[in-house]
Amino acid sequence: MRYGIISDIHGNLEALEAVLKRCTAEAIDVYYCLGDIVGYGANPKECLARIRSVNAVCVAGNHDWAVAGKLNPSYFNPVAKDAVSWTQKQLSPDEIKFLNTLGLVIKEDNAVFVHAMLSEPEYFHYMIYKSEAEENFHLMERPLCFIGHTHTPQIIRFKDNTVECLEETAIAVEPEIKYIINAGSVGQPRDGNPQAAFVIYDSQRRDIKIRRVPYNISAAQEKILRAGLPAALAHRLESGR
Ligand code: ZN
Repeated sequence: MRYGIISDIHGNLEALEAVLKRCTAEAIDVYYCLGDIVGYGANPKECLARIRSVNAVCVAGNHDWAVAGKLNPSYFNPVAKDAVSWTQKQLSPDEIKFLNTLGLVIKEDNAVFVHAMLSEPEYFHYMIYKSEAEENFHLMERPLCFIGHTHTPQIIRFKDNTVECLEETAIAVEPEIKYIINAGSVGQPRDGNPQAAFVIYDSQRRDIKIRRVPYNISAAQEKILRAGLPAALAHRLESGR
């Protein structure tokens, strides 16, 4: 089985279409979406429709729940808050309901899927330090944990009781070893590379690859500006920050 694991689309349809096209070329069998389908970008409706059209198994992100009215966005920065209220106005009751019913954690076979972290997933903590990764490893009953939220793709390994942030973007899964795989962000990468990020996991070959895909950034930027969303949300796309 080939899993296409995508996260943090944030209403960026150009990036999502580019990723789905690559997934088709990569013969992906099943899609997992790690949350934040909406928020920031100009095409929340279209992104929701596309995610539903590929039958992606979805967990909730903080933006999804904020737009659904399930999470108080008071701790969001002003730009993110503006994007939440703009997005709420675009969506139908059915789309809001879809976001509202997304759960926080999905477990399947040898993997667990969550937006932010396994500890208090409803608080969407950022996994920034190795200590937080270690805490997450201790909560994992399965060898693989796929996350998003930080918009920074990364493979982290827990071997010999030590957390290692790997430089590699492609690995062979070793038996008896646990991994956290951050799928990065489709629609708003923040690792300095503006290309859309996603992950392919092949459960037969037992390998994991972080993929990057170029997309039409200027088209996504123009839509953000035309929609009257904060200009900063358009500008950041070209620097990948
Ligand atoms: Zn996000």
